Amino acid sequence: MGRLRLATAWLGGCSGCHMSFLDMDEFLLDLADLADLVFSPPLVDTKVYPEGVDLVLVEGAVCNAEHLALIRTIRRRTRLVVALGDCAVTGNVSAIRNVLGGASAVLGRSYLENCDPPGPIPSDPDLVPTLLDRVVPVHAVVDVDLFLPGCPPSGPTIRAVLEKVIAGEPVDPGTLGLHFGGYGRRSLELDGGPTRPEWPSRDRPTRKGRDDGRANPDRPGDPDRGPRQDQHPPER
Ligand code: SF4
Repeated sequence: MGRLRLATAWLGGCSGCHMSFLDMDEFLLDLADLADLVFSPPLVDTKVYPEGVDLVLVEGAVCNAEHLALIRTIRRRTRLVVALGDCAVTGNVSAIRNVLGGASAVLGRSYLENCDPPGPIPSDPDLVPTLLDRVVPVHAVVDVDLFLPGCPPSGPTIRAVLEKVIAGEPVDPGTLGLHFGGYGRRSLELDGGPTRPEWPSRDRPTRKGRDDGRANPDRPGDPDRGPRQDQHPPER
């Protein structure tokens, strides 16, 4: 395989996942020998997402029209799309605004109710991209090849995935300790192109103590775990 054409994308996120990418420390130097970083808003001054990207790490949820257009372009031009971090995987922090209702409710809350003096609500999409009514995770819009949960995923985890992909080896997130929301058990073969198998529910990885119906005394909140260490004893 030639040099990897690597990209990162920044949708609705805090950039913490990109900070984890930088947290790979000295491996970034190895990566520079093996890959070309062809698009990365915090790191590379390229404005247009290029064609022929091998792998992209996508941070953040899909929150506005700009994100929507970008993630669709990314999917068309990229072999492997990786949802990087909980905002990309589930919506997470970025989706908290969904509890307020649609876009107009969110804008009203921000620019009218909690603004002194109130308004105006920005209406020029060239200045502020149009908000979607609901924040959604990446896989709600496009196919995702791999989910890397975590808020943020650790630098070593990102490194482990990149090393596998660069070596042309399958990535089994189960071996990386990535189990979150039932996602994660996908097999990637860069040379063979992205695999997007249908995922029958019977093949989904189970989380011990929940999906398989058994109790897990190690997991906080499990009914059979007993009282948490930080809980006060019940009053008598
Ligand atoms: S997953 Fe966490 S660190 Fe990553 S963008 Fe979302 S809030 Fe930030």
